[in-house]
Amino acid sequence: MKNKILALLAIGLMSSIFYFQTNLSQNLKTQVLIAINESTNPRTEKIQNYDYEIISSENDTINLEENEEKNLTIIFQNTGKNSWDLSENSENKLYLKSIFPNETNSNIYASESENWQSPILYKISDKNKKEEINTNETLTFDFQIKAPKNAGYYKEKFGLLIENKKLLRTETLDFDIIVEGNYVDSYSYEYTNPAMKDNYLPNKEKQIQITLKNTGKTPWYKSGDYKAYLQENNQNTETELSESKVNPGEEGTFFINTITPSEIGSYEKEFTFKIKDLIEFDSSPISFAMNITNKKVALTFDDGYGEIDPFIDTLNKYNAPSTFFMLGAVAQHQPEQMKRIIADGHRLASHSYNHPDFRTLSREEIIWQTEETRNIMKNITGVDVFPYFRYPYGGFNDYTNSIIEGNGWKWIHWTNGTGDYQHHENSAAGRHQTYFYATLNPPDTSIVLMHIISKSTLGALPEVIKWYRDNNYAFVTVDEL
Ligand SMILES: [Zn+2]
Repeated sequence: MKNKILALLAIGLMSSIFYFQTNLSQNLKTQVLIAINESTNPRTEKIQNYDYEIISSENDTINLEENEEKNLTIIFQNTGKNSWDLSENSENKLYLKSIFPNETNSNIYASESENWQSPILYKISDKNKKEEINTNETLTFDFQIKAPKNAGYYKEKFGLLIENKKLLRTETLDFDIIVEGNYVDSYSYEYTNPAMKDNYLPNKEKQIQITLKNTGKTPWYKSGDYKAYLQENNQNTETELSESKVNPGEEGTFFINTITPSEIGSYEKEFTFKIKDLIEFDSSPISFAMNITNKKVALTFDDGYGEIDPFIDTLNKYNAPSTFFMLGAVAQHQPEQMKRIIADGHRLASHSYNHPDFRTLSREEIIWQTEETRNIMKNITGVDVFPYFRYPYGGFNDYTNSIIEGNGWKWIHWTNGTGDYQHHENSAAGRHQTYFYATLNPPDTSIVLMHIISKSTLGALPEVIKWYRDNNYAFVTVDEL
């Protein structure tokens, strides 16, 4: 609550001092952790032995000038069973540890990892020169902090530990640090979407992806009073950041769920980047063009031999949902990739168990190939790939179709084969071949056949995606054909 009030004050002040960057103020809540070095005791016992409470942390609010250093006082009460030895030659010295004010690396301490990144270690000594703090006694500790260099919102925490590694958390208090000043420098960004436009089929539930690079000097946060978010103009909907924290130089992603218009044409969606409670950004709106089209392309990737993850990474980066016709034998060896295909919004489909030519199989063998693969994939992912299937080698005839279709499968061929399985390695010739055939006179409903085994195809993929996007095709999975 205090934060909210201060933030309002900050906004009020900001309107008058916005272009002057010398006024800094800080609002601190504290967080404390304790640790000991008695490795023989069970963890719970250590907490009992070295528990503590913070009974005073001076003020919640501290005003600092730029680069100002200031003394703070914290009073700890020893609520554990052991006394604290503060003498010079103590084996169990007490320390206060902090990463403040290392702004860009100001990672929140992961409570379970016991991995402090702080370069700053304050040796604790009692202000009143006592050398031993017994149970229920208090320890008064002075230390010095320094203001972050840039205006903005920071999170920080201090930890109390006893010399030698092992941290034990008891009560915690977060530091929220607000520094006023030049917010434009602190919170700037640039677009990193491949294009601030995309093509969609009419009347569909879709997800718009907007990626912004943090070119400012302060971190962005997903949650908290000063979280970064996108607001759609003229609407009340807020879209939160996907990442929990985005440091300067990193990219943050926003996914906006929408239902596309029912009429073909071009539509603009406008968003504003905001930091909750802290500032109204004087930034130009982020404009995203939604092109509603009936042209569609299904990018499809077959077999699964090779590395699947880089394909998923690239398709995610360029926001191109695709279909993976995987073999049952591959699924057994790469189960995590099968799950990821689905989790990341792509479609998993069947390409048989081990790639036989179906024209040479008996009825029983055809049914085994399709059912076995379906069961394997369902067991791994929990999702039924039925009814989407692609024939190995694209090989079919009336006999195979009578069985496949008779069992309810919908088989998917292709309009643009790339022959990319000839190029396992990434080469200029291979990339050129994939690009050339993938984009060669595609019909308005295009299906492109590519293979995971081809690193050339992986290399050509961004250009293939760009061509289809530039030519007004919506990216679809096979269930939308
Ligand atoms: Zn195949």
